[in-house]
Amino acid sequence: MSRATRGFRVSGKFFRAWLHPEIAESGRSMQAPGMKTIETGSTLRAELAKLPKPLVLVPTMGALHEGHLSLIRRARELAGPTGTVVVSIFVNPIQFDRASDLEGYPRPMEADLAVCEAEGVDVVFTPEVSSMYFPDRSITVLEQSLSQTLCGATRPGHFDGVCTVVLKLFLLSGCEIAVFGEKDYQQLAIIRRMVRDLNVPVEIVGGPTVREADGLAMSSRNVKLTAEQRADAPRIRKALLKASEALTKEEILQIASEEISASPLTRIDYLSLVDAETLQPVDDLNRPTVLATAVFYGDVRLIDNIQISAR
Ligand code: AMP
Repeated sequence: MSRATRGFRVSGKFFRAWLHPEIAESGRSMQAPGMKTIETGSTLRAELAKLPKPLVLVPTMGALHEGHLSLIRRARELAGPTGTVVVSIFVNPIQFDRASDLEGYPRPMEADLAVCEAEGVDVVFTPEVSSMYFPDRSITVLEQSLSQTLCGATRPGHFDGVCTVVLKLFLLSGCEIAVFGEKDYQQLAIIRRMVRDLNVPVEIVGGPTVREADGLAMSSRNVKLTAEQRADAPRIRKALLKASEALTKEEILQIASEEISASPLTRIDYLSLVDAETLQPVDDLNRPTVLATAVFYGDVRLIDNIQISAR
């Protein structure tokens, strides 16, 4: 019986654990016994250069849930048993527009590392803000079309912050493939655009939205909902599903708006029907579109979307 090991770091201490034989025999662990946690970009580059390709990156802000895990599993499929899966955990300050949102963002690092370990991740990158950004940083990636609608319209500068950190993560890791969730539909479209426009040699792979049993899209922010808000929040998904069956733009927007606004707990940040590729508002449904919304429950902002085929 093979006795592979894998290690993880909790509270700064490094633990090495014997793997269950089934996991060991799956081959996932054999090429890289012991998950590495790396905290600085220069170390990341040097360490990853030694590890087997392909290198598949899953960028996250942590507080990992099943949605993230689905991307990590997809990354493992893409990397194969001998490739390298890297997860970054970094709450990127330059993409936040509200200080309260940044400060209150959940950061359960120990649990996240244990989850990555259990998923067979090879390397977790957990940089400090000071190791990612110089105090006099003056270069930012600007996106000037797809980011003008939806989240970009109500969170100015958000996607410039996202593009900047994602490009840095691509350069620091040297990944060949990166996996992103369709839950953040606009983010995925903008990353694809960035890679196209800047000739970034990274293949972008999208993964479907993972939901709770009642339909609520999984999000690191869901834990901040009160019990009453949490019980109400599945109405977002129900609203999008019901609206997606209507035949005109006006009906679609009206149905979704009524469903979401029927609750006294919600405040719609935006609700838009946009072209699935350009993300610009549409007048008719003769091309694939996306119905996307951001809804506030108190201070907690939840997003969701549904793709609507051409009529
Ligand atoms: P975040 O940690 O929120 O920055 O998300 C990291 C990655 O996980 C992004 O690519 C998200 O789109 C993706 N993601 C977040 N929630 C979900 C979900 N419920 N299903 C699938 N992917 C998700």
